[in-house]
Amino acid sequence: MSSAAIEVQGLAKHFPLGGSPLVRRRVLRAVDDVSFELRPGKVTALVGESGSGKSTVARLISRLYEPTEGRILFRGEDVSKVRGRRALVRYRSQVQMIFQDPFASLNPDKRVQHHDARPLLIHGIASRRDVGARVEELLASVGLVPPDEIAQKYPHQLSGGQRQRVAIARALVNDPSIILADEPTGNLDSKTGEEIMQLLENLYQRGNTIILVTHEPDIARHARRAIHLRDGLIESDDSAEVTNEESIAYR
Ligand code: ADP
Ligand code: MG
Repeated sequence: MSSAAIEVQGLAKHFPLGGSPLVRRRVLRAVDDVSFELRPGKVTALVGESGSGKSTVARLISRLYEPTEGRILFRGEDVSKVRGRRALVRYRSQVQMIFQDPFASLNPDKRVQHHDARPLLIHGIASRRDVGARVEELLASVGLVPPDEIAQKYPHQLSGGQRQRVAIARALVNDPSIILADEPTGNLDSKTGEEIMQLLENLYQRGNTIILVTHEPDIARHARRAIHLRDGLIESDDSAEVTNEESIAYR
């Protein structure tokens, strides 16, 4: 079996463009023919200008989109065939997305406690009795201190960087093997962005495989390897991996 953490082969996503149903519908080739293999426990940047197809690749990998063509192999299994809510929830708990705007994915009426407790309860990782303590542990692990105070806050009472940490904490609940971070620092000032990158780098030290989607060269520099997309195709794939350092990247 391949030692890849995840592999995509000939991945394509075409979106239909509007038009008369009588005319053969034209399509927008957001992702056209993308293939790469990711080694476990590495940070790979997916870079390219806005509109080059980065987010679409990330959404295909996390199965938020159906691929038009191609295969996604996770642990040797073609997950582009995974169907059904339960199977998708199980898959996404292993391949977690982190978005640019955590505010959009946090419920403004619910405290931080709720956001991180929910997945812990849903996935049976914590019981009602110990969920409070588990949430605080999780918050502390992403640098949200003091965790008991943070847990009682609402999203609007947190800074952008703190909100992103809440989202990252939530993504870590299942100890996913792959984290797809789509412009995770896009809404943050550069200092806070660096802090979030530091946090993501710590995850990589723990062995998680990270796909970092970014259009910012400064952010992409945190990755060993950069795959450049242009118009839905891979323009270049520069892997600056140093072989004798590989061992540190494994669990
Ligand atoms: P990036 O993340 O690199 O900025 P995207 O993957 O978001 O690029 O988009 C690639 C192309 O696909 C763009 O032209 C975009 O407008 C188009 N696109 C993305 N998502 C959709 C969608 N849901 N429906 C139609 N077109 C889309
Ligand atoms: Mg994008």
